[in-house]
Amino acid sequence: GLAPESDAEALAWIAGRNAKFGHFINGEFTEPRKLFQTCNPATAKVLAQVSAGAKKDVDAAVEAANAAQPSWEAMGGSARSRYLYALARLVQKNSRLLSVLETLDNGKSIRETRDIDIPLVARHFYYHAGWARLLKSEFPGYEAAGVAGQIIPWNFPLLMLAWKVAPALAAGNTVVLKPAEYTPLTSLCFAEICQQAGLPKGVVNIVTGAGDTGALVAGHKKIDKVAFTGSSTVGRIIRQQTAGKGKKLTLELGGKSPFIVFEDADIDGAVEGLVDAIWFNQGQVCCAGSRLLMQESIAEQMLQKIKVRMDKLRVGNPMDKSIDMGAIVDPVQKQRIAELVDVGVKEGAEIYQCAASLPTDGCYYPPTLLSSVEPAMRVAQEEIFGPVLVAMTFRTPAEAVELANNTRYGLAASVWTENINLSLDIAPQVKAGIVWINSTNLFDAAAGFGGYRESGYGREGGREGMFEYLKPSFLKTLTAAKPSKTS
Ligand code: NAD
Repeated sequence: GLAPESDAEALAWIAGRNAKFGHFINGEFTEPRKLFQTCNPATAKVLAQVSAGAKKDVDAAVEAANAAQPSWEAMGGSARSRYLYALARLVQKNSRLLSVLETLDNGKSIRETRDIDIPLVARHFYYHAGWARLLKSEFPGYEAAGVAGQIIPWNFPLLMLAWKVAPALAAGNTVVLKPAEYTPLTSLCFAEICQQAGLPKGVVNIVTGAGDTGALVAGHKKIDKVAFTGSSTVGRIIRQQTAGKGKKLTLELGGKSPFIVFEDADIDGAVEGLVDAIWFNQGQVCCAGSRLLMQESIAEQMLQKIKVRMDKLRVGNPMDKSIDMGAIVDPVQKQRIAELVDVGVKEGAEIYQCAASLPTDGCYYPPTLLSSVEPAMRVAQEEIFGPVLVAMTFRTPAEAVELANNTRYGLAASVWTENINLSLDIAPQVKAGIVWINSTNLFDAAAGFGGYRESGYGREGGREGMFEYLKPSFLKTLTAAKPSKTS
């Protein structure tokens, strides 16, 4: 059945803005210009037109952020925390609108946006409101990095905004954020939430557009810190672009995370875990458990169970709360997935696709399993970023570790066994920013998240994430070092 969250409110919200959006700069929306479309991938219908940010827009946003930064920092952590609490509460108050808007713009299921994305967004603002208050006592001798340029992907649009904006504001930075071109709407709705929260003008600025707009943000000389989440390819460009410019930089990039199942594991539990690891959000998850590594003795049995479970997955209208998988974000992404799967089949992988029928219009791709995969195949090495699981086998724990570490990535990993000693032995040997044991895809605002190797560097979330938005305060250090008059 369709979710009670009908799309009426979200469509009315869009229509109320004439389905045309400018940028959010210095607390105001600019006149819409240089428009491009954002579509609902489940229906291919145009939802709205948004502005492509040009140099003068990025300059204006950076100017506004620079002007607002000193007083935003000077007001102190307690005052800033009140704004962060207000943003968190307004996200909760508008959670139905935001969930539906996200589902319409991205194609992910309403169940996920309503129960996962938007609650986590609120959680990030609440959590970082706490840090704003603790800043002085927990980070003495530090001050805000300054103005943060933040570039985010389309797979968790508003959640990625929260991961970036909340710690930046807590630490006293101001921001210029560029959402992904496929999914700008919830960021623009968040801009209105900033207005409702009475956030001082220029503290949050949002410039929409594609990669060229992102490059203008990342390369801007008046931006002190760049935070990027997206592909490893673009991450590399940004790293080159910012090198030697004295900017702080964090990169959250791609992954090809292993999902390791030992022969003593609870196989049914592991199969359920896999559904979450690779079919959650249509597999468009940076830390998706996309490489299944099974101990040889259980491989046949496990593949059978996976196929049975795959046939039960429901793919369809993301507004239907009973579906498991919604639409792929854009035909370009679907094409990439299909091409990589073809490569895998040509390289000799066996393919199994979910028996359920897909909706005929809209951008859908079925849950897919590639088995008999060899470690050197492209499908075993490259991030597919879709609902495609590749399966391989290992004989010994040492071989499992070797296979797990045999890609250029290192974002996450999942280890399944009933033997706690084995799991605690394996986990530290896997080169990944996070290792889940008998679980997968668990996130919390308090836990630092980030990658090894080409999955990026720096951490977001938790105490470590706060450091990325701070710099040593030389003035305070000097003052502290001065002998006091009484000594
Ligand atoms: P992408 O790199 O194509 O785009 C990400 C963002 O960068 C978009 O806003 C885009 O407009 C912008 N961009 C593109 N070219 C740019 C340039 N030259 N300079 C500056 N900005 C530019 O990635 P995507 O397809 O949107 O997202 C998918 C990728 O993101 C996957 O590889 C996924 O693993 C990764 N991802 C990582 C994490 C993480 O936390 N590690 C989280 C989500 C997604």
